[in-house]
Amino acid sequence: MTDVIARDQALALDAADALAPLREQFVLPPGVIYLDGNSLGVLPRSTAARVQQVVTQEWGTDLITSWNKAGWMDLPLRVGDKIGRLVGAGAGQMVVADSTSVNLFKVLSAALSISQAGAPQRQVILSERSNFPTDLYIAEALARERGFELVLAEPEELPGLLDARTAVLMLTHVNYRTGRMHDMAALTHAAHEAGALTVWDLAHSAGAVPVDLQGAEADFAIGCGYKYLNGGPGAPAFVWVHPQHVDRFWQPLAGWIGHAAPFEFTPGYRPAQGISRYLCGTPAVLSLAALECGVDTLLAAEPLGGMAALRHKSLALTRLFAAQVEATCPALKLVSPRDDALRGSQVCLAHADIAYPVVQALIARGVIGDFRAPNILRFGFTPLYLRFVDAWDAAHHLQQVLQSEEWRRPEFNQKNAVT
Ligand SMILES: *Cc1c(COP(=O)(O)O)cnc(C)c1O
Repeated sequence: MTDVIARDQALALDAADALAPLREQFVLPPGVIYLDGNSLGVLPRSTAARVQQVVTQEWGTDLITSWNKAGWMDLPLRVGDKIGRLVGAGAGQMVVADSTSVNLFKVLSAALSISQAGAPQRQVILSERSNFPTDLYIAEALARERGFELVLAEPEELPGLLDARTAVLMLTHVNYRTGRMHDMAALTHAAHEAGALTVWDLAHSAGAVPVDLQGAEADFAIGCGYKYLNGGPGAPAFVWVHPQHVDRFWQPLAGWIGHAAPFEFTPGYRPAQGISRYLCGTPAVLSLAALECGVDTLLAAEPLGGMAALRHKSLALTRLFAAQVEATCPALKLVSPRDDALRGSQVCLAHADIAYPVVQALIARGVIGDFRAPNILRFGFTPLYLRFVDAWDAAHHLQQVLQSEEWRRPEFNQKNAVT
């Protein structure tokens, strides 16, 4: 990690930052340091006008003709192609639809079918014990329904557990709670050596760290639209399948929009060729329009070095914040990896007793992070709109909250439904 610096040095880093103008793309409330873009990305300036146009013109005036005239039907593939550019997917290989949880159900089911075809002994879904709950719940439900076994392990145990019984290695690339990042290419290679397939959840990766799905020879991937992609609350999610698998099996949610010819209204299901078969029902047009604005804010970084440049800045931000906190807040334990290669775009700190009220006290000061049970203070760093001085100020506020003990106030110890 880096050394502690003075606030002026943080300001100098901002002055020299070629990515700084990208911040202008966003509506950022004054007085707020937003370290929660890993949970809900901020509002792009372009979104309100674009959604307004879809509502008043495309819907209000052009009505049903907009399915063709305004390209509504193409939105899942069009936005999918744009997200694909951020994660190393080829054109026409990704669609946007449904939620991350639902897309995980589709791809995990298809992966299990492909893996077990001709290899009935492959009965294990292998995942990480601290994977995000929805991923584990979906896997648990599918395992029950299809007669598979869900095996959970620590990250370092995973390679040793891959064997002839493994059907699918299902992992979230960057852990939601610790920020620890897996080596996608190495684990995919190890899974393939054992004859298993991989499913990658990119919820904390897309738009946050460079990902190369094709280069890593991944098999399936899904991810979230409302975190680093800035698509807005409940934005639809994306799904990618390697071209070598995409036409091999039906996905289980065989809705009419994934049919080869939806408007022929024939009784039998015939899946579309390619990734379109991973669509299910009618596209969520308003949400897709908002998500496209969010993804465009990331594509605006392409002329400035794209994801590699964003990653460089993100690592500098997380290093700075972690170093300041470690130097000034001895009560907090750094949970995220110190090694840049293992750290996503977040810094997680632990405190056995007061993580929750400290986060609440910070929010009252305008420094928005979140609490993750049982004892984690989580801070996401989005290099598109955060400045070095924000990282510095956030660490300073954290130190003041601890020193002043303002976290003791009763209102900071009251639990809300959403943390
Ligand atoms: C945020 C997140 C999800 C969200 O799933 P939804 O279906 O959108 O609720 C899924 N997986 C991981 C790893 C996440 O971090």
